[in-house]
Amino acid sequence: MTLLESGTWGGRGWTGRWERLSGGEADITEPATGGVLGRTGVAAAGDVDRSATAAAAAQPDWAAAPFQRRAAVLRRAGDLFTEHADEIKDWLVREAGNIPGKADFEVHVAAEECYEAAALASRPPGVLLPTEEPRLSFARRVPVGTVGVISPFNAALILAIRSVAPALALGNAVVLKPDPRTPVCGGFVIARVLEEAGLPAGLLHVLPGAAEAGQALVAHPRVPVISFTGSTPAGRAVGEAAGRHLKRAHLELGGNSALVVLADADLDTVISTAAWGSFFHQGQICMTTGRHLVHESLYDEYVDRLAAKADSLAVGDPAREKVHLGPVIDSGQRDKIHQLVTASTDGGARLAAGGSYEDLFYRPTVLAGVTDDTPAYANEVFGPVAPVRSFRTEDEAVALAAASEYGLSLGIVTRDAAHGLDLAARIPTGIVHINDQTVNDEAVAPFGGVAASGTGSRFGGDANVEAFTDVRWTTMRSTAAGYPF
Ligand code: NAD
Repeated sequence: MTLLESGTWGGRGWTGRWERLSGGEADITEPATGGVLGRTGVAAAGDVDRSATAAAAAQPDWAAAPFQRRAAVLRRAGDLFTEHADEIKDWLVREAGNIPGKADFEVHVAAEECYEAAALASRPPGVLLPTEEPRLSFARRVPVGTVGVISPFNAALILAIRSVAPALALGNAVVLKPDPRTPVCGGFVIARVLEEAGLPAGLLHVLPGAAEAGQALVAHPRVPVISFTGSTPAGRAVGEAAGRHLKRAHLELGGNSALVVLADADLDTVISTAAWGSFFHQGQICMTTGRHLVHESLYDEYVDRLAAKADSLAVGDPAREKVHLGPVIDSGQRDKIHQLVTASTDGGARLAAGGSYEDLFYRPTVLAGVTDDTPAYANEVFGPVAPVRSFRTEDEAVALAAASEYGLSLGIVTRDAAHGLDLAARIPTGIVHINDQTVNDEAVAPFGGVAASGTGSRFGGDANVEAFTDVRWTTMRSTAAGYPF
């Protein structure tokens, strides 16, 4: 069985069945070739309204279902991701430009997200409280109702399933709006896996669409919680709108993460770590190493060796060749990367490697002689660009690392790991890795950032219970309470 039989889903969205959407249709383009892989439906506000209403109607029975049933659906979904790994990986490579290793990782994490979500369903749903009155008093976790999930293109499968799976496991319905450039990996695959796993129809809706569909989801009165992953400007708009509608929004946003390389670091291993941090998935990861801060004693050799490594990497079509980097998602993204790189060299930074492209294949790029004002250093590039800056003292390194408006991930490389941990404590960040680069993810770990990288909510484990349930204080007496008047 293939998950996505050709012809059954083309040009539609998922509402429990394949359905035409009122925003029309759009091509799904393979970034590596420009070829058309299929058609997706495009959602408009009316589709969001219909789905949010249908989801709200379906949700109470699902919330009342035995927890074992919800857990079983999620466990089966985890198995199905593995059983259909080859088909899903093929979509990840072709629709999103992933190299096979990244596609493997996404399928693995998707399965793990489902297993972790299944475990949430059987967690004790509350606590018994002390009370001054002759009554039972308890605080119980209840589903919020319908969760609206808005997700980006760059790790389309993981960044959707990490919200969809726990929200469903905890008794909610979900309306998912994936990026319209990756509707299959970011939505349709998930819909089909969960359908095959036995999820009742009406609980999951997949509505690919542009920002307008996302805005309609944020504004909809039947969608009390929004889980948004994307850029900081879009997240700000979502947060403002959610505030106006008095609803909870979990915002996981952009980053410009630093890798701090202390004077005692071993360059023989650091260079591959550093290259991975900046070039993995063409730098299109929120945790990508966007700033290399290197002790001045290592700086020249670091730049030379990182540039040599960048020059040695193969860039091309991951479906047809063995490459280290695939294409970036589209020409808009490529142009934004190139504009930041050329503005950086115009401003005095030195191009040590890369800086050029063919079609959507951007060469891994190393910039030296970077200052506070270098555009590719000061901004999130979301491309394969490694700006390298030197520091003299560790206090200076801490100040530079902390100077970003973002606070998602941080790496510190040193032979003295305990000292690295001490330094990390002085830098605001949601995630820190000692002796590793900045791009890491595990389904069980609390994932998220601080400052412009997010509102401080987290994905994973207990954080998912906080995110996708409400607390209801409940009391119960054996007879009706009497009052003085
Ligand atoms: P984007 O913000 O443009 O789009 C993300 C999603 O939001 C898409 O589905 C888009 O259609 C939707 N959207 C855009 N504007 C919206 C609005 N006003 N209201 C509602 N929905 C809206 O992001 P992008 O540029 O495609 O993705 C890359 C960005 O995402 C980077 O900044 C990256 O750092 C960030 N990101 C963050 C995380 C994280 O977990 N912190 C993970 C991946 C990506």
